Amino acid sequence: MIRYKNDRLAVEDVSAEALARRFGTPLYVYSQAEILARYAALRKAFAGALICYALKANSNRAVCGLLRARGAGADIVSGGELARALACGFPASRIVFSGVGKTEEELSSGLKAGVLTFNVESFEELRALEKVARRLRRPAPVSVRLNPDVDAGTHPHITTGRADNKFGVEEGEALAMFERADQSPWLRVKGLQFHIGSQIETLAPYARAAASAARLVARLEEKGIKLELLDFGGGFGVSYRGEKTLEVGALARTLRKALAPWPQARLLIEPGRWLVADAGALLTRVLYKKTTSRRRFVVVDAGMNDLARPALYGAWHPVVAARRRRGKTMKADVVGPICETGDYLARQRALPPLEAGDLLAVLKAGAYGFSMSSQYNSRPRAAEVLVAGRKARLIRRRETIEDLVRAER
Ligand SMILES: *Cc1c(COP(=O)(O)O)cnc(C)c1O
Repeated sequence: MIRYKNDRLAVEDVSAEALARRFGTPLYVYSQAEILARYAALRKAFAGALICYALKANSNRAVCGLLRARGAGADIVSGGELARALACGFPASRIVFSGVGKTEEELSSGLKAGVLTFNVESFEELRALEKVARRLRRPAPVSVRLNPDVDAGTHPHITTGRADNKFGVEEGEALAMFERADQSPWLRVKGLQFHIGSQIETLAPYARAAASAARLVARLEEKGIKLELLDFGGGFGVSYRGEKTLEVGALARTLRKALAPWPQARLLIEPGRWLVADAGALLTRVLYKKTTSRRRFVVVDAGMNDLARPALYGAWHPVVAARRRRGKTMKADVVGPICETGDYLARQRALPPLEAGDLLAVLKAGAYGFSMSSQYNSRPRAAEVLVAGRKARLIRRRETIEDLVRAER
């Protein structure tokens, strides 16, 4: 819950200004209540389904821990995320291992840990998994990631379910992979997965993908191959600009309808963004103002290394002043200190008159914010703070200059 109270922006019961003063800027702040409310809403809509939180959206251990403690599983895409998920206490039996380029080492770590299933994305990966399983003398659970060739209607960089995307396999290939897995003593057929993109705002792409999955499940059944898990991925869109977006109750009904013929199969979903986006803000202070003959700029202390989404996808985040002022506004570009023209947080935004030292908040930055941040321009990464009621807890310290060079020789 991040909102104004008496014209002061607050994260739950702590003002943004107090957080910035105590922990410095740039600073990621998260509302615990918002994350928990989101998770509860999803649990209600998808009762009975296994909800595997996609760690990459926000992989801070304290954030993951909130969801883990309430029964969530984890959707991971690397050996690093596997280690993180295990360290955070997710039981391996609730971890699904996704990703188009898992190395043998990663497959081996996942198998040793005992993950619920591997979402396998190519025939060659299936062979690699079989080899690893034989070597470890331990059969590997397999789900095949279907590429249903549907357009999720989202940004080209985050659409993943088209035939020209690298993700998943087409129906014929999936069928062949299932047959191979079914015959191998070292592979166990577990389920079918799709994940068609991120920030999806309508039901139609899910309905089309689910229909395609259902067709494949029926063909498998004819061959005597039964599935335990039907994993319909994540990608649930959030409202960044007040636009209308997915309603999870309706989404749950759509997905369940597709599953109706297979009551024995468990539904699994892999939400990331939807759970954490609204819960986070990036706090940043104004350094300078400047104007050219064409543009007004507000230079702030957070850049594209801290929040990459605007530079990477042209993403739009609300940018607001921590102290609300009414009346006159001016249009400005909010830009960071990085030596790139693409380094902006907002463009042509109506903002109140600002002075150096004023605090701004980039809202809805809880997903793919810190987790995509880098040290580009040799900038130590920001600190992260989790707020619960009146309590603010540092959950990742600000990096130091030593952190920047630690691994170098
Ligand atoms: C990124 C990802 C997700 C989560 O996507 P969101 O848009 O954050 O919900 C789920 N599954 C897989 C396989 C992913 O790669």
